[in-house]
Amino acid sequence: MKIIFLGAPGAGKGTQAEIVSKSLNIPTISTGDMIREALKTGTEMGKKAKAYMEAGDLVPDQVVIGIVKERLALDDCKNGYILDGFPRTIPQAEALDAMGADIDCVIDIEVKDEVIINRMSGRRVCEKCGKTYHTENNPSKIEGVCDACTGALIQRKDDHIDTVKKRLETYHKETEPLKGYYEAQGKLIEVEGKDGKGSIEATHALIMEALNNR
Ligand code: ADP
Ligand code: ADP
Ligand code: ZN
Repeated sequence: MKIIFLGAPGAGKGTQAEIVSKSLNIPTISTGDMIREALKTGTEMGKKAKAYMEAGDLVPDQVVIGIVKERLALDDCKNGYILDGFPRTIPQAEALDAMGADIDCVIDIEVKDEVIINRMSGRRVCEKCGKTYHTENNPSKIEGVCDACTGALIQRKDDHIDTVKKRLETYHKETEPLKGYYEAQGKLIEVEGKDGKGSIEATHALIMEALNNR
């Protein structure tokens, strides 16, 4: 199955993708993770993306489309995949269609802006393995230490409040129109974050139900 996870930054796409990936045994392709990795290792692409990412802007379409195209050609994508954080603009969605991706469904995780701000400001990520936590909603067993690899938990630079507002604006302007795009293709499934009261487990159950009923 080929699934897209759509939603605002901080809606819980990555968290849900990790669980669904395991239960369906298909990889998650996160453009955010790939760009952060490129930044860390200092590749040409990483250098191009740095300023955009730090300012809370989208990286140019052509850069992101290029990395996704390469990634989808790898062997482990043969039986399906989850796209987390891509596409984020109409031109990216059109490029994905032009690659012949033939997406099965688009899960849209709907969470209100106020709740998003709480989720992004409490988000902590492992410096070493990238695993995501939340200071209140999903804490690590030992504060500041990753359960999986004992790496240090840090706040992403772009999760600071000034950048968060910018990212939300960008989401509404550039990414939200994708709902209409996929609705027109009959692929959109909205999963409600229930005003932010849906726990990680409850949202996961809604997603599995939606996938099973399609
Ligand atoms: P995205 O990938 O959409 O940017 P994440 O999966 O990183 O979002 O989640 C953002 C933050 O919110 C993380 O700190 C995560 O632990 C927390 N979170 C995710 N889903 C929920 C939920 N249903 N309820 C409460 N907190 C959540
Ligand atoms: P979140 O889900 O919290 O917004 P991501 O990790 O998906 O965070 O993305 C972090 C940043 O990486 C974005 O703000 C943007 O700069 C860049 N990025 C990730 N995916 C894309 C994409 N599909 N198109 C353009 N920029 C992207
Ligand atoms: Zn870790």
